[in-house]
Amino acid sequence: MTQPARLPWKWPAALAGGLLAGAALGWLIGGQVAAGVAVVAIIEIVFLLSPFGHQARPMLTTSAAISPLQHDRFMTRSRRLASNLRDLRNAASQLPDAVVLLDRQQQIRWFNHAAESLLGLQRPQDRGALLQQRLAGSALSEWLRNGAQEPLNDAGAPGQADGHINVSLLPFGDHEQLLLARDISHLSRLEQVRRDFVANVSHELRTPLTVIHGYLELLDPDDVPELAPVLGEMRAQSKRMGQIVEDLLTLSRLETQHEVADERVLMAGLLATVRKEAEALSQGRHKIILEQACDADLLGSPKDLHSALSNLVSNAVRYTPSGGTITIRWQRTADGAVYSVSDTGFGIPANHLARLTERFYRISSSRSRDSGGTGLGLSIVKHVLQLHQAHLQIASEPGAGSTFSCHFGAARVLAPGKRDTD
Ligand code: ADP
Repeated sequence: MTQPARLPWKWPAALAGGLLAGAALGWLIGGQVAAGVAVVAIIEIVFLLSPFGHQARPMLTTSAAISPLQHDRFMTRSRRLASNLRDLRNAASQLPDAVVLLDRQQQIRWFNHAAESLLGLQRPQDRGALLQQRLAGSALSEWLRNGAQEPLNDAGAPGQADGHINVSLLPFGDHEQLLLARDISHLSRLEQVRRDFVANVSHELRTPLTVIHGYLELLDPDDVPELAPVLGEMRAQSKRMGQIVEDLLTLSRLETQHEVADERVLMAGLLATVRKEAEALSQGRHKIILEQACDADLLGSPKDLHSALSNLVSNAVRYTPSGGTITIRWQRTADGAVYSVSDTGFGIPANHLARLTERFYRISSSRSRDSGGTGLGLSIVKHVLQLHQAHLQIASEPGAGSTFSCHFGAARVLAPGKRDTD
Protein backbone atom coordinates (compact mmCIF):
# COMPACT_ATOMS: atom_id res chain seq x y z
CA MET A 1 0.00 0.00 0.00
CA THR A 2 1.24 3.51 -0.78
CA GLN A 3 2.29 5.61 2.18
CA PRO A 4 0.18 8.75 2.58
CA ALA A 5 2.24 11.71 1.40
CA ARG A 6 3.57 14.22 3.94
CA LEU A 7 2.15 17.31 2.39
CA PRO A 8 4.22 20.42 3.08
CA TRP A 9 1.23 22.49 4.19
CA LYS A 10 3.20 23.49 7.29
CA TRP A 11 5.68 25.48 5.21
CA PRO A 12 3.40 28.19 3.87
CA ALA A 13 1.68 28.29 7.28
CA ALA A 14 5.02 28.69 9.06
CA LEU A 15 6.09 31.31 6.54
CA ALA A 16 2.84 33.26 6.92
CA GLY A 17 3.00 32.95 10.72
CA GLY A 18 6.60 34.10 10.67
CA LEU A 19 5.79 37.10 8.53
CA LEU A 20 2.91 38.06 10.81
CA ALA A 21 5.22 37.77 13.80
CA GLY A 22 7.73 39.90 11.88
CA ALA A 23 5.14 42.57 11.23
CA ALA A 24 4.27 42.60 14.93
CA LEU A 25 7.96 42.75 15.87
CA GLY A 26 8.51 45.57 13.40
CA TRP A 27 5.57 47.44 14.80
CA LEU A 28 6.84 46.95 18.33
CA ILE A 29 10.34 48.29 17.58
CA GLY A 30 9.03 51.55 16.31
CA GLY A 31 6.60 51.31 13.45
CA GLN A 32 9.06 49.55 11.15
CA VAL A 33 6.55 46.97 9.99
CA ALA A 34 8.20 46.52 6.60
CA ALA A 35 11.57 46.04 8.27
CA GLY A 36 10.11 43.46 10.66
CA VAL A 37 8.57 41.48 7.78
CA ALA A 38 11.83 41.64 5.87
CA VAL A 39 13.76 40.52 8.91
CA VAL A 40 11.67 37.39 9.30
CA ALA A 41 11.81 36.72 5.57
CA ILE A 42 15.60 36.93 5.68
CA ILE A 43 15.76 34.65 8.69
CA GLU A 44 13.57 32.14 6.89
CA ILE A 45 15.68 32.33 3.74
CA VAL A 46 18.83 31.83 5.77
CA PHE A 47 17.19 28.90 7.49
CA LEU A 48 16.30 27.34 4.17
CA LEU A 49 19.86 27.73 2.97
CA SER A 50 21.26 26.38 6.24
CA PRO A 51 22.01 22.71 7.04
CA PHE A 52 18.73 22.63 8.99
CA GLY A 53 16.99 23.81 5.89
CA HIS A 54 18.64 20.99 3.97
CA GLN A 55 17.23 18.54 6.46
CA ALA A 56 13.83 20.03 6.17
CA ARG A 57 13.73 20.44 2.40
CA PRO A 58 13.33 16.74 1.54
CA MET A 59 9.83 17.15 2.95
CA LEU A 60 9.15 19.32 -0.06
CA THR A 61 10.89 17.29 -2.70
CA THR A 62 10.76 13.65 -1.65
CA SER A 63 8.25 12.14 -3.96
CA ALA A 64 9.18 8.44 -4.01
CA ALA A 65 6.06 7.42 -2.12
CA ILE A 66 3.57 9.78 -3.68
CA SER A 67 1.42 9.63 -6.77
CA PRO A 68 2.25 11.63 -9.95
CA LEU A 69 -0.66 13.99 -9.19
CA GLN A 70 0.60 14.62 -5.68
CA HIS A 71 4.11 15.00 -7.07
CA ASP A 72 2.88 17.69 -9.50
CA ARG A 73 1.12 19.53 -6.69
CA PHE A 74 4.29 19.27 -4.63
CA MET A 75 6.40 20.73 -7.39
CA THR A 76 3.93 23.56 -8.05
CA ARG A 77 3.81 24.45 -4.39
CA SER A 78 7.56 24.31 -3.92
CA ARG A 79 8.06 26.46 -7.04
CA ARG A 80 5.53 28.97 -5.66
CA LEU A 81 7.27 28.92 -2.30
CA ALA A 82 10.68 29.44 -3.89
CA SER A 83 9.29 32.28 -5.97
CA ASN A 84 7.67 33.87 -2.86
CA LEU A 85 10.98 33.65 -1.01
CA ARG A 86 12.77 35.23 -3.96
CA ASP A 87 10.22 38.05 -3.96
CA LEU A 88 10.67 38.59 -0.25
CA ARG A 89 14.45 38.64 -0.59
CA ASN A 90 14.17 41.14 -3.43
CA ALA A 91 11.77 43.24 -1.36
CA ALA A 92 14.20 43.18 1.61
CA SER A 93 16.99 44.25 -0.77
CA GLN A 94 14.96 47.27 -1.78
CA LEU A 95 13.93 48.41 1.73
CA PRO A 96 14.81 52.06 2.38
CA ASP A 97 16.19 50.99 5.80
CA ALA A 98 19.59 49.33 5.93
CA VAL A 99 19.40 45.67 7.03
CA VAL A 100 22.57 43.74 7.90
CA LEU A 101 22.48 40.12 9.03
CA LEU A 102 25.32 39.25 11.41
CA ASP A 103 26.54 35.89 12.66
CA ARG A 104 27.48 35.24 16.26
CA GLN A 105 30.93 36.80 15.72
CA GLN A 106 29.27 39.88 14.20
CA GLN A 107 30.58 38.96 10.76
CA ILE A 108 28.44 40.22 7.91
CA ARG A 109 26.32 37.46 6.35
CA TRP A 110 23.97 39.46 4.20
CA PHE A 111 23.02 43.09 3.63
CA ASN A 112 20.59 44.98 1.43
CA HIS A 113 21.12 47.89 -0.98
CA ALA A 114 20.35 50.56 1.64
CA ALA A 115 23.20 49.16 3.75
CA GLU A 116 25.54 49.95 0.84
CA SER A 117 24.49 53.59 0.60
CA LEU A 118 23.88 54.30 4.32
CA LEU A 119 26.66 52.25 5.90
CA GLY A 120 29.07 52.20 2.97
CA LEU A 121 29.21 48.37 2.80
CA GLN A 122 30.46 46.94 -0.47
CA ARG A 123 29.50 43.83 -2.36
CA PRO A 124 30.96 41.22 -2.47
CA GLN A 125 34.08 41.98 -0.46
CA ASP A 126 32.27 42.91 2.78
CA ARG A 127 30.49 39.56 3.07
CA GLY A 128 32.20 37.79 5.96
CA ALA A 129 33.92 40.97 7.19
CA LEU A 130 33.65 41.97 10.85
CA LEU A 131 31.11 44.80 10.95
CA GLN A 132 32.88 46.65 13.74
CA GLN A 133 36.17 46.61 11.82
CA ARG A 134 34.45 47.56 8.61
CA LEU A 135 32.95 50.65 10.28
CA ALA A 136 36.10 51.50 12.28
CA GLY A 137 36.38 55.15 13.27
CA SER A 138 32.63 55.78 13.17
CA ALA A 139 30.23 56.31 16.09
CA LEU A 140 28.61 53.04 15.06
CA SER A 141 31.76 51.04 15.58
CA GLU A 142 32.13 52.55 19.08
CA TRP A 143 28.50 51.74 19.82
CA LEU A 144 28.95 48.12 18.69
CA ARG A 145 32.10 47.83 20.79
CA ASN A 146 30.14 48.98 23.86
CA GLY A 147 27.56 46.24 23.41
CA ALA A 148 24.87 48.22 21.51
CA GLN A 149 22.30 47.63 24.26
CA GLU A 150 20.23 50.72 23.49
CA PRO A 151 19.37 52.00 19.99
CA LEU A 152 21.77 54.64 18.70
CA ASN A 153 19.92 57.84 17.84
CA ASP A 154 21.07 60.39 15.31
CA ALA A 155 24.50 59.07 14.42
CA GLY A 156 26.45 60.07 11.33
CA ALA A 157 25.88 57.64 8.42
CA PRO A 158 29.27 56.07 7.58
CA GLY A 159 28.29 55.82 3.90
CA GLN A 160 27.19 59.45 3.42
CA ALA A 161 28.95 62.70 4.17
CA ASP A 162 25.90 64.52 5.63
CA GLY A 163 23.69 61.53 6.39
CA HIS A 164 22.12 60.82 9.79
CA ILE A 165 20.79 57.46 10.94
CA ASN A 166 19.02 55.76 13.85
CA VAL A 167 20.42 52.28 14.44
CA SER A 168 19.28 49.28 16.46
CA LEU A 169 20.65 45.79 16.91
CA LEU A 170 18.20 42.90 17.36
CA PRO A 171 19.19 39.43 18.53
CA PHE A 172 17.68 36.39 16.84
CA GLY A 173 18.29 32.67 16.41
CA ASP A 174 21.42 31.23 17.91
CA HIS A 175 23.26 34.42 19.00
CA GLU A 176 22.87 35.95 15.57
CA GLN A 177 22.00 39.60 15.20
CA LEU A 178 20.31 41.91 12.83
CA LEU A 179 21.36 45.52 12.44
CA LEU A 180 18.70 47.96 11.27
CA ALA A 181 19.57 51.53 10.29
CA ARG A 182 17.00 54.14 9.31
CA ASP A 183 17.87 57.22 7.30
CA ILE A 184 16.79 60.28 9.35
CA SER A 185 18.81 62.88 7.39
CA HIS A 186 15.60 64.61 6.35
CA LEU A 187 14.35 64.81 9.96
CA SER A 188 17.75 66.05 11.11
CA ARG A 189 17.67 68.83 8.53
CA LEU A 190 14.16 69.83 9.60
CA GLU A 191 15.28 69.86 13.22
CA GLN A 192 18.21 72.08 12.25
CA VAL A 193 15.87 74.45 10.39
CA ARG A 194 13.63 74.60 13.47
CA ARG A 195 16.58 75.31 15.76
CA ASP A 196 17.94 78.03 13.45
CA PHE A 197 14.48 79.59 13.10
CA VAL A 198 13.92 79.80 16.86
CA ALA A 199 17.43 81.14 17.44
CA ASN A 200 17.07 83.77 14.68
CA VAL A 201 13.61 84.93 15.73
CA SER A 202 14.70 85.21 19.37
CA HIS A 203 17.78 87.12 18.34
CA GLU A 204 15.80 89.51 16.15
CA LEU A 205 13.25 90.16 18.91
CA ARG A 206 15.86 90.95 21.50
CA THR A 207 16.78 94.49 20.30
CA PRO A 208 13.24 95.87 19.76
CA LEU A 209 12.19 94.47 23.12
CA THR A 210 15.13 96.09 24.86
CA VAL A 211 14.16 99.45 23.30
CA ILE A 212 10.47 99.11 24.32
CA HIS A 213 11.45 98.04 27.80
CA GLY A 214 13.88 100.95 28.09
CA TYR A 215 11.25 103.56 27.11
CA LEU A 216 8.67 102.02 29.44
CA GLU A 217 11.13 102.36 32.29
CA LEU A 218 11.60 106.04 31.42
CA LEU A 219 7.88 106.81 31.71
CA ASP A 220 6.90 107.94 35.19
CA PRO A 221 3.45 106.69 36.29
CA ASP A 222 3.15 109.79 38.53
CA ASP A 223 3.05 111.99 35.41
CA VAL A 224 -0.08 110.21 34.15
CA PRO A 225 -1.74 108.66 37.21
CA GLU A 226 -4.75 107.46 35.21
CA LEU A 227 -2.43 105.32 33.08
CA ALA A 228 -0.41 103.96 36.00
CA PRO A 229 -2.07 100.48 36.03
CA VAL A 230 -1.66 100.19 32.23
CA LEU A 231 1.96 101.21 32.45
CA GLY A 232 2.57 98.70 35.22
CA GLU A 233 1.06 95.90 33.12
CA MET A 234 3.06 96.95 30.04
CA ARG A 235 6.29 96.87 32.03
CA ALA A 236 5.49 93.45 33.48
CA GLN A 237 4.63 92.01 30.05
CA SER A 238 7.67 93.46 28.31
CA LYS A 239 9.82 92.01 31.09
CA ARG A 240 8.16 88.63 30.59
CA MET A 241 8.72 88.75 26.83
CA GLY A 242 12.35 89.67 27.43
CA GLN A 243 12.68 86.67 29.77
CA ILE A 244 11.10 84.31 27.19
CA VAL A 245 13.54 85.55 24.53
CA GLU A 246 16.50 85.10 26.86
CA ASP A 247 15.35 81.58 27.79
CA LEU A 248 14.86 80.66 24.10
CA LEU A 249 18.36 81.90 23.31
CA THR A 250 19.76 79.91 26.23
CA LEU A 251 17.95 76.78 24.99
CA SER A 252 19.23 77.28 21.43
CA ARG A 253 22.77 77.54 22.73
CA LEU A 254 22.40 74.45 24.94
CA GLU A 255 20.87 72.41 22.09
CA THR A 256 23.74 73.07 19.70
CA GLN A 257 26.42 72.58 22.33
CA HIS A 258 27.93 69.10 22.61
CA GLU A 259 30.12 69.56 25.64
CA VAL A 260 30.60 71.94 28.56
CA ALA A 261 33.57 73.60 30.16
CA ASP A 262 35.30 71.41 32.72
CA GLU A 263 35.55 73.94 35.52
CA ARG A 264 35.36 73.32 39.25
CA VAL A 265 31.97 74.56 40.40
CA LEU A 266 32.20 75.48 44.07
CA MET A 267 29.01 74.02 45.48
CA ALA A 268 29.07 75.74 48.87
CA GLY A 269 28.93 79.14 47.17
CA LEU A 270 26.40 78.04 44.56
CA LEU A 271 24.06 76.53 47.17
CA ALA A 272 24.22 79.72 49.25
CA THR A 273 23.39 81.81 46.16
CA VAL A 274 20.50 79.57 45.19
CA ARG A 275 19.13 79.78 48.72
CA LYS A 276 19.37 83.61 48.69
CA GLU A 277 17.54 83.70 45.36
CA ALA A 278 14.78 81.50 46.79
CA GLU A 279 14.43 83.80 49.80
CA ALA A 280 14.27 86.87 47.57
CA LEU A 281 11.58 85.28 45.40
CA SER A 282 9.60 83.96 48.35
CA GLN A 283 9.62 87.27 50.24
CA GLY A 284 9.18 85.46 53.52
CA ARG A 285 6.17 83.44 52.36
CA HIS A 286 7.98 80.09 52.70
CA LYS A 287 10.34 78.36 55.02
CA ILE A 288 13.55 77.68 53.09
CA ILE A 289 15.95 75.01 54.34
CA LEU A 290 19.40 74.16 52.99
CA GLU A 291 20.71 70.69 53.90
CA GLN A 292 24.27 70.40 52.70
CA ALA A 293 25.22 66.84 53.59
CA CYS A 294 28.55 66.86 51.72
CA ASP A 295 31.20 69.33 50.64
CA ALA A 296 31.84 67.83 47.21
CA ASP A 297 32.12 70.15 44.20
CA LEU A 298 31.02 69.63 40.62
CA LEU A 299 32.92 69.63 37.36
CA GLY A 300 31.19 71.58 34.60
CA SER A 301 29.88 74.97 33.57
CA PRO A 302 29.26 77.25 36.61
CA LYS A 303 26.88 79.50 34.65
CA ASP A 304 24.74 76.65 33.25
CA LEU A 305 24.65 74.72 36.51
CA HIS A 306 23.60 77.86 38.36
CA SER A 307 20.81 78.36 35.85
CA ALA A 308 19.57 74.75 36.23
CA LEU A 309 19.77 74.57 40.02
CA SER A 310 18.13 77.95 40.56
CA ASN A 311 15.35 77.14 38.07
CA LEU A 312 14.29 74.23 40.27
CA VAL A 313 14.27 76.41 43.37
CA SER A 314 12.33 79.14 41.59
CA ASN A 315 9.72 76.57 40.51
CA ALA A 316 9.43 75.23 44.06
CA VAL A 317 8.75 78.74 45.36
CA ARG A 318 6.31 79.59 42.56
CA TYR A 319 4.29 76.37 42.84
CA THR A 320 4.10 76.24 46.64
CA PRO A 321 1.43 78.26 48.43
CA SER A 322 2.42 80.61 51.25
CA GLY A 323 3.38 78.85 54.45
CA GLY A 324 4.96 75.88 52.63
CA THR A 325 8.48 74.55 53.08
CA ILE A 326 11.21 74.25 50.47
CA THR A 327 14.20 72.04 51.16
CA ILE A 328 17.38 72.20 49.08
CA ARG A 329 19.67 69.16 49.53
CA TRP A 330 23.16 68.34 48.33
CA GLN A 331 24.39 64.85 49.14
CA ARG A 332 26.75 62.08 47.98
CA THR A 333 25.36 58.80 46.66
CA ALA A 334 27.01 55.46 45.96
CA ASP A 335 27.67 56.47 42.36
CA GLY A 336 27.99 60.27 42.47
CA ALA A 337 25.99 63.06 44.04
CA VAL A 338 22.43 64.39 44.07
CA TYR A 339 21.09 67.92 44.21
CA SER A 340 17.42 67.96 45.06
CA VAL A 341 14.69 70.48 45.76
CA SER A 342 11.59 69.35 47.69
CA ASP A 343 8.51 71.44 48.22
CA THR A 344 5.18 71.08 49.96
CA GLY A 345 3.34 72.66 47.03
CA PHE A 346 0.60 71.86 44.55
CA GLY A 347 2.28 68.70 43.28
CA ILE A 348 2.00 67.27 39.78
CA PRO A 349 -0.47 64.58 38.58
CA ALA A 350 1.43 61.49 37.36
CA ASN A 351 0.17 61.76 33.76
CA HIS A 352 2.03 65.08 33.31
CA LEU A 353 5.42 63.95 34.65
CA ALA A 354 6.82 62.51 31.41
CA ARG A 355 6.14 65.68 29.40
CA LEU A 356 7.18 68.27 31.97
CA THR A 357 10.58 69.00 30.42
CA GLU A 358 9.10 69.78 26.97
CA ARG A 359 9.25 73.41 25.88
CA PHE A 360 6.17 75.38 27.00
CA TYR A 361 4.56 72.32 28.59
CA ARG A 362 2.55 73.45 31.60
CA ILE A 363 -0.03 71.84 33.81
CA SER A 364 -1.83 75.13 34.21
CA SER A 365 -0.92 77.96 31.83
CA SER A 366 -2.57 80.61 33.97
CA ARG A 367 -0.80 79.49 37.14
CA SER A 368 2.54 79.44 35.29
CA ARG A 369 1.95 82.89 33.76
CA ASP A 370 0.72 84.42 37.00
CA SER A 371 3.80 83.15 38.78
CA GLY A 372 6.08 84.69 36.14
CA GLY A 373 7.04 81.46 34.37
CA THR A 374 8.15 81.21 30.74
CA GLY A 375 7.41 77.49 30.34
CA LEU A 376 11.04 76.89 29.41
CA GLY A 377 12.65 76.40 32.83
CA LEU A 378 12.57 72.61 33.02
CA SER A 379 13.64 72.31 29.38
CA ILE A 380 16.73 74.31 30.26
CA VAL A 381 17.32 72.12 33.32
CA LYS A 382 17.10 68.96 31.19
CA HIS A 383 19.57 70.24 28.60
CA VAL A 384 22.06 71.49 31.18
CA LEU A 385 21.95 68.12 32.95
CA GLN A 386 22.35 66.22 29.66
CA LEU A 387 25.47 68.24 28.90
CA HIS A 388 26.81 67.17 32.31
CA GLN A 389 25.84 63.50 31.74
CA ALA A 390 23.37 63.90 34.60
CA HIS A 391 19.65 63.24 34.70
CA LEU A 392 16.54 64.71 36.27
CA GLN A 393 14.19 62.64 38.41
CA ILE A 394 10.78 63.94 39.42
CA ALA A 395 8.68 62.53 42.25
CA SER A 396 5.41 64.20 43.09
CA GLU A 397 2.11 63.78 44.83
CA PRO A 398 -0.72 66.11 43.89
CA GLY A 399 -1.65 68.27 46.84
CA ALA A 400 1.37 67.12 48.88
CA GLY A 401 4.42 68.39 47.01
CA SER A 402 7.23 67.49 44.65
CA THR A 403 10.90 66.58 44.66
CA PHE A 404 13.11 67.36 41.66
CA SER A 405 16.48 65.56 41.87
CA CYS A 406 19.56 66.04 39.67
CA HIS A 407 21.74 62.93 39.65
CA PHE A 408 25.41 63.54 38.80
CA GLY A 409 27.75 60.67 37.99
CA ALA A 410 31.03 60.12 39.86
CA ALA A 411 33.06 61.58 36.95
CA ARG A 412 31.41 64.98 37.57
CA VAL A 413 31.86 65.00 41.35
CA LEU A 414 35.05 66.43 42.84
CA ALA A 415 36.39 66.06 46.34
CA PRO A 416 36.78 69.46 48.02
CA GLY A 417 40.15 71.14 48.19
CA LYS A 418 42.85 72.72 46.02
CA ARG A 419 40.32 75.45 45.25
CA ASP A 420 42.73 78.06 43.92
CA THR A 421 44.74 75.82 41.67
CA ASP A 422 41.83 74.02 39.95
P1 ADP B 1 7.18 77.43 34.04
O1 ADP B 1 7.92 78.63 33.61
O2 ADP B 1 5.78 77.36 33.50
O3 ADP B 1 7.31 77.19 35.49
P2 ADP B 1 8.85 75.09 33.75
O4 ADP B 1 9.42 74.46 32.54
O5 ADP B 1 9.79 75.55 34.80
O6 ADP B 1 7.92 76.24 33.24
O7 ADP B 1 7.84 74.06 34.41
C1 ADP B 1 6.89 73.41 33.59
C2 ADP B 1 5.62 73.13 34.37
O8 ADP B 1 5.90 72.14 35.37
C3 ADP B 1 5.09 74.32 35.13
O9 ADP B 1 4.25 75.11 34.32
C4 ADP B 1 4.33 73.66 36.25
O10 ADP B 1 3.03 73.31 35.81
C5 ADP B 1 5.09 72.37 36.51
N1 ADP B 1 6.02 72.47 37.67
C6 ADP B 1 7.33 72.73 37.65
N2 ADP B 1 7.87 72.72 38.88
C7 ADP B 1 6.85 72.43 39.72
C8 ADP B 1 6.75 72.25 41.16
N3 ADP B 1 7.82 72.37 41.95
N4 ADP B 1 5.53 71.96 41.65
C9 ADP B 1 4.45 71.82 40.85
N5 ADP B 1 4.48 71.97 39.51
C10 ADP B 1 5.66 72.27 38.95
